[in-house]
Amino acid sequence: MTARVLNGNAIRDQIYSELAGEIAALREAGIRPGLAAVLVGDNPASKLYVKSKIAACEKLGLASFLLTPPASISTPELLCIVAELNRRDDVDGILVQMPLPPQVDAKKILEAVSPEKDVDGFHPMNVGRLVAGRPNLVPCTPAGVMEIFKRSGIVLEGASAAVLGRSDIVGKPMALLLLHANATVTVCHSKTRNLSEVTRCADIVVAAMGRAAMVTPDFIRPGATVIDVGQNVITEPPQAAKIFANFPERLESFRSKGSILIGDVHPDVASVAGALTPVPGGVGPLTIAMLMSNTVKAARLGRGSSMPAAAAVRP
Ligand code: NAP
Repeated sequence: MTARVLNGNAIRDQIYSELAGEIAALREAGIRPGLAAVLVGDNPASKLYVKSKIAACEKLGLASFLLTPPASISTPELLCIVAELNRRDDVDGILVQMPLPPQVDAKKILEAVSPEKDVDGFHPMNVGRLVAGRPNLVPCTPAGVMEIFKRSGIVLEGASAAVLGRSDIVGKPMALLLLHANATVTVCHSKTRNLSEVTRCADIVVAAMGRAAMVTPDFIRPGATVIDVGQNVITEPPQAAKIFANFPERLESFRSKGSILIGDVHPDVASVAGALTPVPGGVGPLTIAMLMSNTVKAARLGRGSSMPAAAAVRP
C-alpha cells in the first residue's frame, strides 16, 4: 500500500481563494484587515517564520506591520508595545513570535494581547472558549490540521485518534478539536508507556513531538491517517542514510545541501498508512493559512458590523 498524500499546499490555495472573496467584501466596507508581527531579537528561525507570514499578508492584500524590538527588551517595554497594538484600529491581529528572550515573561506578554486580536489563539480566554466547545480564535496549526481532515474527507466522528505531544500550541488544542469533532482521543507524551501499542490502535495519528522520524511503520495500523506536524532539521549523514534508505532522491538532496527537513514520521510509514501529510508541504502551509484566516475573522468580528450580510455569515 502507498498512502494517499494529503497535499497541504493545495488545501492552502483553496483556503486562500475563499479568503480572497471575504477580503474583497471587507474592502467594499472600507476595511483592510491588518496583522502586526512582533519579532524580538534576531533568531534566524523566527525571522524566517515572520517573513513568510508577512509575505502571506502581502499575497492576500492584508496590511502588515512588523515591529522588531531588540533582544535586550524588558517585559514592561514589550507590554507597552502590545498595549499600543491593542489600541490601534488598523491592527486586527497581533502575533508575538516565540520564543522570547529569557528575561521576558512570555506568559505575561501573551495574556496582554487583547483576546479579540489574539490570532494565535494562545490567550487564556481563547483557550477557555476552545475547552468549552465555543471556539473563536483557535491556534493555527491544529486548526490547519482540522482543515486537512475536512477537505480530504477523513471521517472523525467515532474514529479513535492518538495525538503525540501535549504542548499548549499543538497537542492540547489538537486533542480538544478532535474531541469536539466526536473522535475518541488519546493524548500521548514523553511519559506514555508502550507508545507504539497505543498508536497502533488508532485510526488517526497526529505526531507533534519534535522527534525526527520517530513514528516508524510498526506504530501504524494499516490504512490509518497519519498527520505529521513535526519539523526537524537533520544534519548527521548516518542518520540521514538510515532514515532515507528507501528514498534515494531525498538522500541525494541531503547530501547536496548537508541538511534536510524531516517530520516526526518516518518516510517508510507511507507503505502502511492510508493517508499521510508530507514534510514539507503538509501541515506547514496550513499554519500560515489559518493565521491569515484568523486575521480576517478578527477583522470581521472586530470591525465588520457595517459589512454586507453575505460576507458576514462565516462562523
Ligand atoms: P514541544 O512544546 O516541544 O512539545 C513536544 C511534545 O512532544 C511534548 O508534549 C512532549 O512530551 C512530547 N514528546 C517529546 N518526546 C516524546 C517522545 N519520545 N514520546 C512521546 N512524546 C514525546 O513542541 P511543539 O511546539 O508542540 O512542536 C512539536 C513539533 O511540531 C516540533 O517539531 C515543531 O517544530 C513542530 N511544529 C510545526 C508546526 C507547523 O506549522 N508544521 C507548527 C508548530 C510546531 P512532554 O510534555 O512529556 O515533555
